[in-house]
Amino acid sequence: MSKQAITSRTRVLGVIGDPIEHSLSPLMHNCVLERLGLDYRYVAFHVQKDYGLHVGLAFRTLGLAGLNVTIPYKETVVGQMDVLTEEARVVGAVNTIGLNAKGELVGHNTDVAGFLGALEIHVGEGEPAGRGAVVLGAGGAARAVLYALGLSGARPIYLANRTQSRAEALAGWFSYILPDTPVELVPLTDIEALNKAFDNALITVNVTPLGMAPKVDASPLPEGAQPKPGSLVFDTIYNPERTLLLTQAQEAGCRAIGGLDMLIIQGMVSLAWWLKKPIPWKEMMDGIRKLLLAELKKG
Ligand code: NAP
Repeated sequence: MSKQAITSRTRVLGVIGDPIEHSLSPLMHNCVLERLGLDYRYVAFHVQKDYGLHVGLAFRTLGLAGLNVTIPYKETVVGQMDVLTEEARVVGAVNTIGLNAKGELVGHNTDVAGFLGALEIHVGEGEPAGRGAVVLGAGGAARAVLYALGLSGARPIYLANRTQSRAEALAGWFSYILPDTPVELVPLTDIEALNKAFDNALITVNVTPLGMAPKVDASPLPEGAQPKPGSLVFDTIYNPERTLLLTQAQEAGCRAIGGLDMLIIQGMVSLAWWLKKPIPWKEMMDGIRKLLLAELKKG
């Protein structure tokens, strides 16, 4: 299909972040927009430090059709929204901005749907219910993952983080949001307790940057800790495709899943939300994966 010309009717979507030059979102979204013959383009905006406070104003001024928000602005933009969706309010972070029918600026969070969608592909709907899960990390993305695991019915959820006070704060928030899902703190230094948690878990999720390019020799697994054979180890990192954690997991007889599907699904859920129509992303999933993996291989 030949590329649709950019005219004065072409609408602009985009992603803001700092840094932003390695984002895969423009490639992914433009491929899908073109395939669907939609008169939109998706661009990356490098928003520098102090300007993160003016994203809402910029969105309105330029009449953007939609924005994704990535590190470090997911929390900065929350206060600039007129309305938050349930997901954004609960998680306390916005990764998608759009306008509603009343012209109000709405902040949404599709990381929750992205993680749940990836889980559904690799574990199957309903399978996590009543089974344990281990979350490694307690930052912004861990909040979305913890909430998504809670919604999927996983229990108990074990939370392990380098900084114990941050894990305690996250567990406190979670107990308030989903009081029926027990959450237990496991110190990363207590290998015996960590292995007990692994033995009781169907899913382990890494939500730390340990293992992400260029520091690919790092793993969030402390020495002597090992997920249970047969369980699923999900690394939210997608660059590299196969992290050291995923290699360790596979060697231990676990199913190993990278973060690319989560990235793709959160993007497709954002697109459907902006355009207010379903996007047949499931049919395009293989093609998008191949496209993004080829881009990652370029380095
Ligand atoms: P964040 O808010 O900065 O949190 C980072 C977490 O990692 C914290 O719990 C931090 O522990 C821990 N950590 C960082 N460096 C560490 C180290 N050297 N040793 C031990 N723990 C360390 O970041 P975030 O926004 O949650 O993102 C985390 C990761 O999620 C990202 O790197 C990204 O790869 C992934 N992610 C993927 C997707 C996707 O679509 N696939 C979406 C969102 C995020 P402390 O509390 O001790 O500092």
